[in-house]
Amino acid sequence: MERAGVELNGVRYRWPKQPVVVVCIDGGDPAYFEQGVRDGVVPHVARFLKQGFGAVADGDMPSFTCPNNMSITTGAPPAVHGISGNFYLDRATGEAVVMTGPELLRSRTLMAEFSRHGAKVASITAKDKLRKQLGKDMDVAGGSVNFSSECADQATLAEHGIEDVLGFVGRPKPDIYSPELSLFVLEAGVKLLAERRPDILYLSLTDYIQHKYAPGEPEANRYYANMDTLFGRLDALGAVVALTADHGMNDKSNADGSPRVIWLQDVLDRYFGKGSSTVICPITDRFVAHHGALGGFVRVYCGERLDPRDVMNVAKGLDGVEAVFDRGTAALKFDLPLDREGDVVVIGRADTCIGAAEADHDLSGLKGHRLRTHGALAETKVPFILNRPLSAAYAKRAAARALRSRELFDFAINGVDA
Ligand SMILES: [Zn+2]
Repeated sequence: MERAGVELNGVRYRWPKQPVVVVCIDGGDPAYFEQGVRDGVVPHVARFLKQGFGAVADGDMPSFTCPNNMSITTGAPPAVHGISGNFYLDRATGEAVVMTGPELLRSRTLMAEFSRHGAKVASITAKDKLRKQLGKDMDVAGGSVNFSSECADQATLAEHGIEDVLGFVGRPKPDIYSPELSLFVLEAGVKLLAERRPDILYLSLTDYIQHKYAPGEPEANRYYANMDTLFGRLDALGAVVALTADHGMNDKSNADGSPRVIWLQDVLDRYFGKGSSTVICPITDRFVAHHGALGGFVRVYCGERLDPRDVMNVAKGLDGVEAVFDRGTAALKFDLPLDREGDVVVIGRADTCIGAAEADHDLSGLKGHRLRTHGALAETKVPFILNRPLSAAYAKRAAARALRSRELFDFAINGVDA
């Protein structure tokens, strides 16, 4: 008898007949696979594209890590799941709130929902910051697991559903600033698939390599070749393998290699006075801006005496700005939660990033690398690749319109013939 599936955010998911693995390649701009295929370094992915399905899909705005991981795993936009950045400004307190807390997530993930219906699921992330949201309400009593490679040595049966992850995977704990942090996630996925055969696996990597290296650079190709080997092993173990990314990545540097930045807080302070507005860069992990805190999307919160329309007029006139929206329009256009939106949204052009005040950003961490980052409309394009051909119904759907990365679970579970 066929087991009933689950329903989440208006989509019906059947019970997987074979394991389904969805991999979110953090910062995995489609250009990396395109270049990798041309350079012959990703033979398994090249085969998936021939025998399975491949397209370029749209991720959600802002093109940041947390919102898109939650969109992919809930099958819904930020307006539904509530995560619209890595942090937001609480209007009541004026405090910046980190958006990684499970209490801020307004939907369950598919992994949590399936686990509660008795499926064995695995959610593995590179960085620990995503782990709690992805595993919110997950039932780990029945063989499901939820852990990060960053904190692999701290996993417990009670909280993570697994202990001694390092012994299980047979590798040392990887450095947080290394490609191994991501490869460990894939290795763990291969091992779990081989030994425990979960019904659903979600493997979420980090964009350490993509922030540093452009498509085709030796370090990027090496990383993609290593990933490809592990994708091949997931495929050989009989899983449906689906690949996407949370966002793309673009070079936002001047010809001389320095970052091309609009220091928006400095501009607004000059026009309207210090303290009249707060520019929030929701790409950053903390409120105090540090290395990597530059992206293509910022929110401006206006003080009582500042009219958002005046901010919009100034921002629209800046070279390097692609689009400016007021709060309501941004929320409507990008399906964002209105209560967590700024008064004004400013989006950079593909070649320009937007920062707050120059003095608050420490760029020393770039160490001579060109600035590669994301957050803007230009970085919403992501791969949408399956190792199996689509059913007739899903092939028709894919041909009819542009796909969204948050449909990938639907395609991987419902859209391939078993
Ligand atoms: Zn990311």
